[in-house]
Amino acid sequence: MTTAAAAGNISRVLLLGPPGAGKGTQAKRLAKKLAVPQISTGEMLRAAVAEGSAVGKRAQAAMDEGVLVSDELVLEIIGERLQAEDAQRGFIFDGFPRTAPQAEALDALLAERGAELQRALAIEVSEQELVARILKRAQTEARGDDNEGAIRIRMREYRSKTEPLAAYYRRQGKLAAIDGQAPPEVVAGRIAEALQ
Ligand code: AMP
Repeated sequence: MTTAAAAGNISRVLLLGPPGAGKGTQAKRLAKKLAVPQISTGEMLRAAVAEGSAVGKRAQAAMDEGVLVSDELVLEIIGERLQAEDAQRGFIFDGFPRTAPQAEALDALLAERGAELQRALAIEVSEQELVARILKRAQTEARGDDNEGAIRIRMREYRSKTEPLAAYYRRQGKLAAIDGQAPPEVVAGRIAEALQ
């Protein structure tokens, strides 16, 4: 049985959750399982900054500070990414959308292709655990925004601009809450169940 069939042909999913919730880890696992690309705007933006491209130059200051980059810039890179061949079969979004205008623009982009998002998985983890995980990650990954000041700002950005998207997807009947306070393989099992 193919994995896509096992998951009931689910192939257009996004992961919502605060910094440190494990979105990246779970998005990578799920993308592999469903044979669709993981699309992380954070990773794309970090690559653009490292390359020194025009997009990177526009994003860097906001990223270093921990605030969101503009919707306009994010939608530019997402619009382009969704045109790539590998994204035609589906995708796992990780860290996108993060604002109401981004969520609405995504719905419109997909509607243009006669498709729609199937599930929004909200990974929930306590604030205390989040900070511990990010500080641990800071020891192994050289991310400029994994310091205490930027972390606090990223949490605030999440609570004020991204968390309200859960209600947006709940109204669409697409939201599934996932308890993320467990080892990655346990959380992956909960995600698989939510996609049944
Ligand atoms: P992440 O790796 O998802 O935590 O993203 C790192 C940083 O990239 C964020 O703190 C934002 O500055 C920026 N970023 C990533 N994705 C988005 C998005 N969808 N909208 C706005 N800013 C974003």
